[in-house]
Amino acid sequence: MDNRCTPTSLALSSEPLTLRDLDQLGLERIKGIGPKTVTALESLEIRSVLDLLETYPRRYIDRTNMATIAELEEGVPSLLVVTVTSSKLIPTRGRGRGMVKVVVSDGRRSLPLTFFNQAWREKQLQPGLEVAVFGKADLYNGTLQMTNPVVDLVGNQTGRILPIYPQSEKSRITTKDLGTWIEDALNKCAPRGFADTVPADLVAKHQFIARGEAMRNIHVPDSAEAHAAARRRLAFDEVLRVQLMLVGRKAQWERDSAGFSHEISGHLIDGFMKALPFPLTGAQKRTIAEIYKDVSSATPMHRLLQGDVGSGKTLVAVATMLAAVQGGHQAAIMAPTEVLADQHAIGIRSLLASLKISDESNLFGDRQLRIELLTNKVTGEQRKSVLAGLADGSVDIAIGTHALIQDSVSFHSLGVVVVDEQHRFGVEQRSRLRDKAQESEAGLMPDVLVMTATPIPRTAAMTVYGDLDVSVLDELPPGRTPISTSWVNTPVDIETMWSNIRERLAAGEQAYVVCPLIEESEKLEVASAQETYDQLMEQDLRGFTVGLLHGRMSSADKESVMASFRSGATQVLVATTVIEVGVDVPNATSMVILDANRFGIAQLHQLRGRVGRGKLASQCYLVTQSGEPSPRIEALVASTDGFVLAEEDLKLRGEGTIMSVNQKGQSDLTLASLQRDLELIQWARDAATEIIAADPTLSSLPLLRDELDLVFSDRDEEFLFKS
Ligand code: ADP
Ligand code: MG
Repeated sequence: MDNRCTPTSLALSSEPLTLRDLDQLGLERIKGIGPKTVTALESLEIRSVLDLLETYPRRYIDRTNMATIAELEEGVPSLLVVTVTSSKLIPTRGRGRGMVKVVVSDGRRSLPLTFFNQAWREKQLQPGLEVAVFGKADLYNGTLQMTNPVVDLVGNQTGRILPIYPQSEKSRITTKDLGTWIEDALNKCAPRGFADTVPADLVAKHQFIARGEAMRNIHVPDSAEAHAAARRRLAFDEVLRVQLMLVGRKAQWERDSAGFSHEISGHLIDGFMKALPFPLTGAQKRTIAEIYKDVSSATPMHRLLQGDVGSGKTLVAVATMLAAVQGGHQAAIMAPTEVLADQHAIGIRSLLASLKISDESNLFGDRQLRIELLTNKVTGEQRKSVLAGLADGSVDIAIGTHALIQDSVSFHSLGVVVVDEQHRFGVEQRSRLRDKAQESEAGLMPDVLVMTATPIPRTAAMTVYGDLDVSVLDELPPGRTPISTSWVNTPVDIETMWSNIRERLAAGEQAYVVCPLIEESEKLEVASAQETYDQLMEQDLRGFTVGLLHGRMSSADKESVMASFRSGATQVLVATTVIEVGVDVPNATSMVILDANRFGIAQLHQLRGRVGRGKLASQCYLVTQSGEPSPRIEALVASTDGFVLAEEDLKLRGEGTIMSVNQKGQSDLTLASLQRDLELIQWARDAATEIIAADPTLSSLPLLRDELDLVFSDRDEEFLFKS
């Protein structure tokens, strides 16, 4: 039976309304919406009754909690629901755009409001209009008044709790308009009701209210409790959709692709483990076991390795790559920058220096591993030789940048891919390397390990990386001395800092100085780094060997600066954020971050992770101009735990930042919050896993499947549930 609505009547069918039905209902069906309003709403991305109903209030006003004008106190933010008694534009001299004086009354007392540069308020705030006013009262000439408060037109809506919708000045659509239209939409939908696409047992298990009830109560709740229950239900629907999409994508990927069954015991891996100069940490053991379980099965691995700076991810990456090499296949690791690729090449070559792989064609029956670097600066004969080796299989391990995914590169048999994303999420690049592997002779999907040094909170990981399995290296190798971090801002403290650093340098240790981040202009950033360098050479660090590293240097120059710092010949490295990731010089024990307020928590944590990598005690100085440390600096001073800091970051910045780094699925959370809805996200994850396992194409849940198609199809071309 076709349960779609025709454009003329909602009543033609008696089936409950699905989201698709609502999506197909035009706005002109709503009382009071004419062609002009349709256009205005379109500019707000509201195109259908569904869009209208999903325009949720941004806050609510509870009339019973309202202050009266008599209760106002100077400086205390208060909310009033009042009636406008008068409004008058007072021209001001000079360039200001006028001042509007408005008087409002709560029936007993009145209160003057003053608006600057908002001349349009005079017309907007007509006498008799009921408005919600939010602001701090201030004293002016001995009487209380408010200046530039937030004003919402609430109109003559009834009910105890008033929804306040996002208002748009430009389209002249007020919260009152939206409220009226939404009520009309809800009333028109009521006879048919809303289809509940979430399996009933799931709804019952978590005691969710029905979707229809939630739709009404999110807009016009009778009580705070009713609103909370509605939000909880609709937020769950959102996260369930996202999780079904992610878990479904993962399942499909695993179903449709044949991978390698790598051999995980053999003399190469055994030899590697035996030759390690230290025992593995518990977390490394656990993680390698998780990875080996994945790579030995024919289902391709797609796993995220999260590990704080210094937690020993490189070793895990190498152990993973050896699984491919041992079986005669190849492995590749892709880093986001050349400096990092160089760093990996050095680290990986030294870890594998003593290893031999059996080779029949060789007189001795074995040979050294062939490990090659491929970046843009590998050119000429060397490049030709590396490319040939990748194509004929004689290169065992390729280390490189995105140069690895250029068209001229082909592999003989690429069995393991490690993507070191650090904090640069490169989903597209990840899949291109995977595609390359599939083009190779074996035609099999490689096992993919994505490494990130930016710990992200668990719920965020479940969403941002929801289509990957996750391993966490949550333990640092033993013998590290914690980094002591201090905030430095007075001239005296700064002088003390340099004198401490000079002592350390004199004792043979090394230091980093990170120059201010200037996001707007690399040129300015380089100039400021140069200036810092010149100044330190002249003054605070005179007599020491100082090197300069920045993004505008040639690769060769960068490399020689780094080599000199690694060898200890350069004592201090003055750098822009190019050193943020991966650089590993255990003898470096001091880190100075200038203008630290310009950096985010994650960046500061990454930078700080460059020290504290050896046995020596390390210190990090966060230098700022201002007299107050920012909450970010306070967080860094208080903790060195990346996961704690990530939670803190999420709290301080909200999820926008995490969500915006990735593409699909994330923008679909309107009501749900990664911060608040940890429990809902976990439930949704569990439910999605269970549902997809039992019914990978959702054939038994056609309405839910159709809903996913509706919500995700325009962005996700290769959507999965098209059975
Ligand atoms: P990450 O890439 O996670 O920041 P690395 O892989 O660069 O960390 O490792 C940091 C340092 O710790 C390196 O010098 C490495 O040799 C050392 N290391 C790794 N694993 C161990 C271990 N189990 N015991 C002692 N040191 C280790
Ligand atoms: Mg590393």
